[in-house]
Amino acid sequence: MNHSCPQCRKELDPQKLLRVVPSGQRTFLPLYTLPACPHCSAELRVNTHPVENQALAVQVVLGVLVLLFEVHLLAITLALVGIIGVQFSLAQFIRSNAPDWPRYLPSRIGA
Ligand SMILES: [Zn+2]
Repeated sequence: MNHSCPQCRKELDPQKLLRVVPSGQRTFLPLYTLPACPHCSAELRVNTHPVENQALAVQVVLGVLVLLFEVHLLAITLALVGIIGVQFSLAQFIRSNAPDWPRYLPSRIGA
């Protein structure tokens, strides 16, 4: 996955992104903030891969099934193993099949 800024092309550390209030939003207790590049201050949005959304859906279904049908230690353990397996498979899939997928795109809200 490509973690570079779409504006300045510098590599971004997800832990060091800025959080900015979009223009037109109130600055006191804003409804939401946007990630921004610490190098050029470009407002960004996270570009999730479609497989990430599908993996999240699988994890939510696993969690709901455990809560609905069996709150048993074995069922919870199997669900946790399944969730970890989905996360591991997702990381492997993206690493091998989408190494150039852009993690960040320019924000449509702030533009
Ligand atoms: Zn930048």
